[in-house]
Amino acid sequence: MNLAYLLQRQALRDPERPAILNGAQTVANYGQWAQRCQHLATQFQAAGLQPGDRVALFMRNHVRYLEVVFAAWWAGLAVVPINAKLHLREAQWIIDNAQARWAFVTGDIASENNESLSGLERVIEVDGRKADALWQWPESPVNTPITERRADDLAWLFYTSGTTGRPKGVMITHRNLLTMGLGYFCDVDTVSAQDTIAYAAPMSHGAGIYAIPHLMAGARHMVPPSGGLDPTELFALGQQIGPLSMFAAPTIVKRLVEHAEAAGFSVDACGQTFKTIVYGGAPMYAADIQRALRVMGPRFVQIFGQGESPMVGTVLSRQQLQDTQHAKYSQRLASVGLAQTPVRIRVTDTQGHDLPLGEVGEVVIQGDSVMAGYWRNPEATTQAIQQGWLFTGDMGCLDVDGFLTLKDRSKDMIISGGSNIYPREIEEVLLHAPGVAEAAVVGAPDAEWGEVVVAFVVPQTGQELDTALLDKLCLEEIARFKRPKRYEIVASLPKNNYGKVLKTELRQRLARAT
Ligand code: AMP
Repeated sequence: MNLAYLLQRQALRDPERPAILNGAQTVANYGQWAQRCQHLATQFQAAGLQPGDRVALFMRNHVRYLEVVFAAWWAGLAVVPINAKLHLREAQWIIDNAQARWAFVTGDIASENNESLSGLERVIEVDGRKADALWQWPESPVNTPITERRADDLAWLFYTSGTTGRPKGVMITHRNLLTMGLGYFCDVDTVSAQDTIAYAAPMSHGAGIYAIPHLMAGARHMVPPSGGLDPTELFALGQQIGPLSMFAAPTIVKRLVEHAEAAGFSVDACGQTFKTIVYGGAPMYAADIQRALRVMGPRFVQIFGQGESPMVGTVLSRQQLQDTQHAKYSQRLASVGLAQTPVRIRVTDTQGHDLPLGEVGEVVIQGDSVMAGYWRNPEATTQAIQQGWLFTGDMGCLDVDGFLTLKDRSKDMIISGGSNIYPREIEEVLLHAPGVAEAAVVGAPDAEWGEVVVAFVVPQTGQELDTALLDKLCLEEIARFKRPKRYEIVASLPKNNYGKVLKTELRQRLARAT
């Protein structure tokens, strides 16, 4: 099953339906989208690209993203999405590792880089002054059949963000993405042809593959002209073209909430602007989601997944997030919810044996969303997938109702005096303290304790932080041994391109200081 059939199906069913929007402006209906894919697929084939060959996309969010991805699939190729914020050398490393034959780049990336990508047969600019002639659509319809692909063939070669070491190529197949797309309707949201998905987060990541369920439903795909997250622009677009659905990392949710508050938008106004905001990819602290629900209303759904099982792990539904009267509401708010329909989830010890409920161990996932393995890296694949289960590297525990609470990545756990300490518990407490905007807790090497807890805290603008007060709050809320031994007050936290706090960098800072 080739995912390109999803597009063909919609194009046959309703060719005139608006499909791709640049802001409020429709740039392609479903018929045109499919036509453009056929035109591009013909060009791939004419240049000798073979089924299974890779084409890289080093593009910021752009309306042509969707055309290139589906054209590549139409021709049986696999795409290699590269985060637009990567350094050219990092992108080059990925291109070499994937042995991509062509690359598509947005004009801004091409002009920002004096050097250029090498080792490719073609580098195609999708816009700007040097936009390639490839983008001149033919007058008469092209009829290029979809190249047959098996469900387990490679569709999306996604490189892990690589906060430690070199990134690994995660082999995501047509089956994986089809499973993710169908699972969206079971677990995350209903979608109709009147809906609009907004690509605010990078399309090279989870936000981009959410195109699939929205394509299955014949919805509209809107790329904000800024290409990224600008709350003012998103609110304006939502008001203009109707409620938007989108995926957002918790930092993005926070910015939207701050904007709604500052602009004085009511919950109803937020409801007319946003239908559904799916969040995940990093911890969402209880205080933050409570504030988001208060300001923007019941339009949130949480998912937990990882590049190796993209967007499919657990889900905390809109209803569960709203069910404030439930006896276990606060525990559920701190959890990432229940296993999504397509997968099973267990919590195991290092040998892969089930742990009793409530005990913290490694979260493992099994199902048709789980990657085929790491690209040309059998050792890493054998480590990650054991007896059909994906070892996520995330630590967590299950409760009696099946809700999963994540503690931390195993590598972020602190071991102090022989006790395991999960930074997130401490971060939750610090975030409740007055004047605290952000907090990240890591372990620093210590001769006596092995590691000691250090908290990096960002004050809210114009606020002075009293660390004695922070310590007092910790003493009231958590065990003594878990409280930070040291506070570092900083102006900001280092984050990667997806907004995740780079704890490795914080640990390095501490190691350098000792
Ligand atoms: P990536 O592969 O870059 O998408 O990162 C996946 C990792 O992000 C997971 O393994 C988790 O550590 C983290 N993550 C994803 N979703 C959540 C969530 N809802 N809450 C907390 N952490 C999450």
